[in-house]
Amino acid sequence: MRRAAAAAWVALSCLVLGDRAAALDLEVQKVTERVYALVGDLTGRTADNYGINATLGLLVTDSGAVLIDSGSAYQAGPIIARAVARVTDQPVRWVINTGAQDHRWLGNGYFHDRGATIIALARTVESQRRYAPTHLARLRNILGDRLEGTVPVYADRVIQGDDATFSLGGVGVRLMWPGHGHFRDDAVVIVPSEDTIFTGDLVFVERLLGVQGDGTSSMVRDWLASFRRIAAMAPAHIVPGHGHACDLARAQADTGDYLAWLIDSIAPAVANFDDLAEVVDRLERSPFEYLVNHDKLQRHNVNVTFLQLEAE
Ligand SMILES: [Zn+2]
Repeated sequence: MRRAAAAAWVALSCLVLGDRAAALDLEVQKVTERVYALVGDLTGRTADNYGINATLGLLVTDSGAVLIDSGSAYQAGPIIARAVARVTDQPVRWVINTGAQDHRWLGNGYFHDRGATIIALARTVESQRRYAPTHLARLRNILGDRLEGTVPVYADRVIQGDDATFSLGGVGVRLMWPGHGHFRDDAVVIVPSEDTIFTGDLVFVERLLGVQGDGTSSMVRDWLASFRRIAAMAPAHIVPGHGHACDLARAQADTGDYLAWLIDSIAPAVANFDDLAEVVDRLERSPFEYLVNHDKLQRHNVNVTFLQLEAE
């Protein structure tokens, strides 16, 4: 009865407000008693998904919820908050940012306005400051009016150093930088009691990862080394930056193996002075064609990796 009433209310509010945010629901995946993945779209940012084309994390403590990453935009806040409310009555008291890419942190403002403390490593905040203008400009083109209200809100609690352990709501949390990942200065959140690592963009599953090509971002070799540091911890559960929560084997297959494949396939071609365009054509197909976005990103990834390895 209550559920029917709630459904009717949602339907009515959609009708009356014409509000797409009311209609869009994030998939909530239970990982452990306290850990959940909020799984966004695997493909691109669109106005329809409010830029939530990533996976966010949730850790529920006895005195508040911890949101790991906050989405791309202020207006995505209600969608995320509604997903959180499906599994806990606890308010979001803390937001930890794992990275500097838009969908990891530009939604901070919504939760900050509702009393949450934003937490990040100092190096991550530095990268956020560097990328914010570019990322906001790009989002403006995609989200239009739906970017209204989104401004950079940086961490209240900035952690110096690269490895810190603290308690949130009685649960021990370790925020650490394993080395550069998808973006420079991306961090991970380790929760030992749940045998879980929230990796942010260090791990992509089900969809092909993208290698950044702007020259200021991270290197494929660094990303692979960072991945291996996380893998050596052998967590039972991984909440990735993209795709569903999974075990280490899945993360290894979709991220670790792909990064290694890029290097192993391209380094000999670079050493051999092969032509870049020819190498991009030759490696257009790969053993990773089962991943979403392969057709969209593979040539780009080969191109950027070749240039990175050539510059070494
Ligand atoms: Zn991402």
